[in-house]
Amino acid sequence: MSIDFSEEFEAPLVTASMTPQDEGEFSLRPRTLMDYTGQEKAKGNLSVYIEAARRRSEPLDHVLLYGPPGLGKTTLAGVIANEMGVNMRVTSGPAIEKAGDLAALLTNLQPGDVLFIDEIHRLNRAVEEILYPAMEDFVIDIMIGKGPSANSIRLDLPRFTLVGATTRAGQLSSPLRDRFGVQLRLELYTQEELSRIVTRSAALLQMEIDPQGAAEIASRSRGTPRIANRILRRVRDYAQLYYDGVITKQAADHALNQLEIDHLGLDAIDRRMLTAIITNYGGGPVGLETLAATIGEEAVTLEDVYEPYLMQIGFLTRTPRGRCVTQLAYDHLHLEREGQQQFSI
Ligand code: ADP
Repeated sequence: MSIDFSEEFEAPLVTASMTPQDEGEFSLRPRTLMDYTGQEKAKGNLSVYIEAARRRSEPLDHVLLYGPPGLGKTTLAGVIANEMGVNMRVTSGPAIEKAGDLAALLTNLQPGDVLFIDEIHRLNRAVEEILYPAMEDFVIDIMIGKGPSANSIRLDLPRFTLVGATTRAGQLSSPLRDRFGVQLRLELYTQEELSRIVTRSAALLQMEIDPQGAAEIASRSRGTPRIANRILRRVRDYAQLYYDGVITKQAADHALNQLEIDHLGLDAIDRRMLTAIITNYGGGPVGLETLAATIGEEAVTLEDVYEPYLMQIGFLTRTPRGRCVTQLAYDHLHLEREGQQQFSI
């Protein structure tokens, strides 16, 4: 799996992207559709397609999974491979630098295999063009030699299933997007679903957890299983030291307050972002790049990691002129809306 664990840093708890702290999370990944909690719509569709493909003894059509990080795209790709009874090869858009890298991957696949490409929107053009005939006709054209004596030869590939994952479906070129027969959007999870995920993970970590403890972690995990599992690990430390090894609401509260994650799951960056829109830009609208520069974060991080949840809980809206905060955000931060009277003449 091409995940770069080389950066040695203590990642903020809320980022939904994979960090070194999550290395151990592989053991928490569900392997079957039954075990995969939530995403009922995507699962319902997939189970029909998988069963039909199995009955025809054919590989599954290519699948595109999209949605914010940490929602279970990689996990679902693994579930698909497992349910189809085939192997999965894992790579990512930025890891495939040259057309030859992709050719090597494709020619090494076994019939029916799943090839999982994470961050597929980051594939470069030359690589993408190799992928079109591979996805459509299961062939690749390889150039041999250089200059006038260069020759193109066509190789047959085994039939395979490409599973692509992206946080930004809009950035995929339309020829690539159109070649995915199945396109599934993953949604943020409900608190009830996250409670079930946390309870299951606690069992796998051999920790005792009570329902209130699970509910507390769920309600502060911003709809994201990766964050829920990460918080669970930190709460486990507090539970072991101070609460007889049981994950209770009290243990969860203790850990989360230490981590400065509030009762809605907002962390320091969320609060900085909302406060900046209010105090520097009168509540908005403000452009994403300007906002990112103001608080010293990257625009893509704000857009992919922070905004989906802030929009889901109704704190932030996107308008054509930029981002605006809502009254709910003012109330949550105990800030007053300024200059309201000015506009109401
Ligand atoms: P993504 O690929 O979308 O960034 P992952 O598939 O890596 O997300 O999921 C992050 C972690 O969250 C996984 O290790 C897994 O333990 C957990 N997880 C994700 N989705 C589910 C689910 N539906 N049920 C249970 N656990 C899940």
